[in-house]
Amino acid sequence: MVIARTDEQKAQAIAELRSHLKGYPPVNDQEGALKQLLSTFEWRKENGIDMYPVATKSNGLPVLYPIRGYLSMPDQNLIAAPGVAESVLRIYRHMVEEIFHYHVGCNEFLHRVIMRDCSKMAGKVINRETVIFDCTGMSWQQFHMPAIQLIRTISDVDQKYYPETLNKLYLVNAPGAFVYVWKIIKGWLDPGTIDKIQILGSDYQGKLLEQIPPENLPSFLGGKCTCNHIPGGCVPSQVLKNVPINIPGDANHKVPTAYNSDIMEKGKTCEDIRGPYRIGSD
Ligand SMILES: [Zn+2]
Repeated sequence: MVIARTDEQKAQAIAELRSHLKGYPPVNDQEGALKQLLSTFEWRKENGIDMYPVATKSNGLPVLYPIRGYLSMPDQNLIAAPGVAESVLRIYRHMVEEIFHYHVGCNEFLHRVIMRDCSKMAGKVINRETVIFDCTGMSWQQFHMPAIQLIRTISDVDQKYYPETLNKLYLVNAPGAFVYVWKIIKGWLDPGTIDKIQILGSDYQGKLLEQIPPENLPSFLGGKCTCNHIPGGCVPSQVLKNVPINIPGDANHKVPTAYNSDIMEKGKTCEDIRGPYRIGSD
């Protein structure tokens, strides 16, 4: 990284940085924000994240999770298509150690493909997501320590290297026991993030509809959308058993990365495989 030396160069670098950050919320702590941004770039370089392949319509890579309602990508489910690593299919059913790669793969797809698409549809920059996490079917089993540690690893990565990308997180149908788990998790999150999280029991519909238009909310969450044109409806769910189980085959290699090694390798040289990465949206 080139370090600016003179004040003039510094001012120029900051102006350039600001122009890249158009559409992001204003920051009060410029120095802290710059530090975070630089550490994000550093992390991306060290881990080769810019080379991470993402699914686009033109490269035809399989998606890592089910998607509905975008312009540039057809509605589709995660299937055991050639190229998807066996680990992804396994993670989709159970959480294991490859979760880091799966998570990065999903984040990159979200930012490089989905958010750009959302921005085009909305006619304004959309660079933050609203997440609804349905706790239906959760029990104490999901709250064992290794699972909680995984949540910690993921939230650490997101807070450090995907800053300011969460709009709101709603946990709905949260079981009573979640109160105790929430106390642990809260300790790992910064106050800004805690403010964005709402924990709701079974009486959540009104709260969701305050923020989300009914046509964009699945019917089982109180909205009007059913997505009955595609297997799994709005949200394919292991709990509801409304999607076929993916059985990994020879085309799904046992590698920790989200895609097979040859696709990961191609991502290093082929722009079409990894899709553009830039701050904000075009
Ligand atoms: Zn839907």
